[in-house]
Amino acid sequence: MPNEKKNIFSLTLQELEESLSKFHKFRAKQIYNWLYTKYEDNFDNMLNLPKELREYLKENFTTKLVDMVKFEESKDGSVKYLFRTKDNYTYESVFLKMKEDKYTLCLSSQIGCKVGCSFCLTAKGGFIRNLDSGEMVYQVFFIKKIQNIPSNKAVNIVYMGMGEPLDNLENTKKCIEILKDNNGLDISVRRQTISTSGLAPKIKKLGELNLGVQLAISLHAVDDELRTELMPINKAYNIESIINEIANFPIDNRKRVMFEYLMIDGLNDGLDSAKKLVALLNKIKAKVNLIYFNPHEGSKYKRPSKEKVESFREYLLKKGLLCTIRESKGLDISAACGQLREREKTL
Ligand code: SF4
Repeated sequence: MPNEKKNIFSLTLQELEESLSKFHKFRAKQIYNWLYTKYEDNFDNMLNLPKELREYLKENFTTKLVDMVKFEESKDGSVKYLFRTKDNYTYESVFLKMKEDKYTLCLSSQIGCKVGCSFCLTAKGGFIRNLDSGEMVYQVFFIKKIQNIPSNKAVNIVYMGMGEPLDNLENTKKCIEILKDNNGLDISVRRQTISTSGLAPKIKKLGELNLGVQLAISLHAVDDELRTELMPINKAYNIESIINEIANFPIDNRKRVMFEYLMIDGLNDGLDSAKKLVALLNKIKAKVNLIYFNPHEGSKYKRPSKEKVESFREYLLKKGLLCTIRESKGLDISAACGQLREREKTL
């Protein structure tokens, strides 16, 4: 059987150098440069490489293990992409156009998810498998290329698409390393945010790795009963266990841990919840991001009023807790992650 070709997007620079040990070491940097600053994925077009190396690359490596099969564009310029893997599974990424010409790329880390949050469409399809680091990195390569984002233009990365990144920590860690390499995409760890449902032992592990990335926690509730209803994972790792881990998490002095809080009408949008939230985050360098719940077909929860969300925010600010309300980007295409994938399945 012929050797299986390696996905070049899954290799760190050091691994690529090692794989090309019979060539000059600087050749790996040139390849990284072609891939990640010129967005060139055809080895034949990497013209400053000797022919012998280009042939070697074609025989042993591939850039074609993932295809983009569908996209949807929002009125605000955000775009959701659906990718298909070689083993015929699909996953999504979202390109978000923020204010002042800033871009955020929301990446998936798994196909499906084990966590099972009750408000999430991805959860409904169950868990299929982890994405490998190359499948994760490809999302950034592809979106930067198709959106014509110059290589020196900084983008923000959030690991907030399909899946729980801390449940796929090894590949997520490698993806972070590949994205941050200054011979390639050069995306600083400060611009990369891992968003977790709160797997307390994995938060600890992430802290020990000390990667320097930002951390966001999907908290969504201030008492365990409601949080368990919204996120059954709370039975295993309750609010207290998460807060205890965060208190020990290494944070860049200038940064804060982001607590995502999904506001649901009549359930967690009152001032009593705001008070509890302030008390809970009392000893943590925290900021809170309030998110309007957007009901999808069949959902039993409702969107809260603007007044309620704003008075919740004002209360937090008055108590000295930084708080933002999430900009509703790509609402017309992405009320929940996993939507595009769900629709593809029904075509
Ligand atoms: S919200 Fe995130 S963690 Fe929860 S089930 Fe969906 S993908 Fe998984």
